[in-house]
Amino acid sequence: MKVLVVNAGSSSIKYQVFGMTDESVLAKGLVDRVGIPGTTLEHKPTGKDEVVIKKDLPDHTEGMKLVLEALVNAEYGIMKSMDEIGAVGHRVVHGGEAFASSVLIDTEVKKVIKDCYDIAPLHNPPNLMGIEACQALMPNVPHVAVFDTAFHQTMEPSSYLYALPYDVYEKYHVRRYGFHGTSHYFVSHRAAEMLGKPYEECKIITLHLGNGASMAAIEGGKVIDTTMGFTPLEGLVMGTRSGDIDPAIVFFLMEKLGMNAQEANNYFNKKAGMLGLSGVSNDLRDILEAANTGNERAQLSLEVYYNRVKGYIGKYMAELNGCDCLVFTAGVGENGYDVRESICKNLDFFGIKMDVEKNKVRGKEVDVSAADSKIKILVIPTNEELVIARDTLELSK
Ligand code: AMP
Repeated sequence: MKVLVVNAGSSSIKYQVFGMTDESVLAKGLVDRVGIPGTTLEHKPTGKDEVVIKKDLPDHTEGMKLVLEALVNAEYGIMKSMDEIGAVGHRVVHGGEAFASSVLIDTEVKKVIKDCYDIAPLHNPPNLMGIEACQALMPNVPHVAVFDTAFHQTMEPSSYLYALPYDVYEKYHVRRYGFHGTSHYFVSHRAAEMLGKPYEECKIITLHLGNGASMAAIEGGKVIDTTMGFTPLEGLVMGTRSGDIDPAIVFFLMEKLGMNAQEANNYFNKKAGMLGLSGVSNDLRDILEAANTGNERAQLSLEVYYNRVKGYIGKYMAELNGCDCLVFTAGVGENGYDVRESICKNLDFFGIKMDVEKNKVRGKEVDVSAADSKIKILVIPTNEELVIARDTLELSK
């Protein structure tokens, strides 16, 4: 059976088609600038050249139509008919407290996705647009929602509650949710396999370090804590997001810079983080390069970044009472070996020792711990799309 995985953003649609017999990727691509002049489809069938199609498209339904046409195209398609797609899996960012696992999409599920608009205004509306576009074009196959928040739903109130009047939790669902759940799920399972230990007996700290970044502490297969909170703004220093700050800074800068609430939200999400601090870029490669050529602010911003990650390793070591392994994943975690090295430096008190030579790899699954490290340090490329495809297959049986 073939499964189509769809990740719909406000003006983009990312997709992958999996052949589930061997979980191979048959094609993947991206429709960009949906609803904005200059829409493009970049379609990459496995084993063939990438094609780029330019065609202005008004909405997600037209965008999905273009994807389906590409998938059955005689020259660069990967199947004869759309009927070969047996199910569609959709990435949905926020499932609130309603979903602790993936679900078949029905009217009730769509209502809950809508109910979360308030707490995920940038993500859930386009996610639902993607679902409705696909349902309109493929009404006879099961559609499955896989939530970024679901894996973190095992957290206890001691981890997910903020010290705010309790009624804002009850009334407005203000609590910590956590994101990147599918990635933390995937790499932690793979880590247990690499350790040769039952997942339910493992204590794992996962570090998803990409443009957005989060960590999770996982014990017995359950997330007990994670760095992102009510929104993906909390926690680590990210490409353009501040991560943890004193909330009083928000009011202070709103006044000083004359920002309203929406502008402030944009400021802390888009103008802060490594971009704001370094003044160089949100891309860690650029910042590393600038730091290597003597840019002091770039060096300083990297120190802030490492310090925050180390702080959370310490927090999670305490919460887990020790752990079996650290797992690095996502763009920075998989490729930035200098970043991994800096984070793991001086953690030998915890029994965390890296083999610096082994660590010099990019984008590969590898154990980079020193022979005498009590705690393993693993690099595991993430694969969120595969988790979505597997859940979709399972739920559509
Ligand atoms: P992601 O959000 O997972 O796609 O990750 C994107 C981030 O990965 C960007 O900030 C890139 O700079 C970063 N990245 C990719 N390759 C490297 C590398 N070799 N060293 C450091 N960061 C990298």
